[in-house]
Amino acid sequence: MYVIMEGCVDILDQTCVQNCPVDCIYEGDRASYINPAECIDCGACEPVCPVDAIAYVDQVPSNQQQHIDDNRVFFQTVLAGRSQPLSAPGGAGGVGRVGVDTPLIAALPRRESASS
Ligand code: SF4
Ligand code: SF4
Repeated sequence: MYVIMEGCVDILDQTCVQNCPVDCIYEGDRASYINPAECIDCGACEPVCPVDAIAYVDQVPSNQQQHIDDNRVFFQTVLAGRSQPLSAPGGAGGVGRVGVDTPLIAALPRRESASS
């Protein structure tokens, strides 16, 4: 499976979403998340991310390892304001913007404006 890491936070430009053939990249609030139950390991998303925030699970840097579990947490736990886990809904397009993040992502400090 492929993993979205911290670099996506507050960038969220959705380039990867447009390139995923199975629509398994979901939009939280401040970041996107790859559904490990739906990702087919095609690798199409990795090179298109402008901030190199996507990596194959075996190549996630040591300081980003927490995001391997965190992508799972987004789908397998009950997120704030929801009554059940997202699980594997079969495509981000049908779900739309989820609008909430995992506790790990939500707790990260806001990124400064990209214009600086
Ligand atoms: S590796 Fe392929 S299937 Fe998995 S998230 Fe990336 S584009 Fe989608
Ligand atoms: S392309 Fe990169 S920065 Fe943009 S939404 Fe996907 S993971 Fe996030």
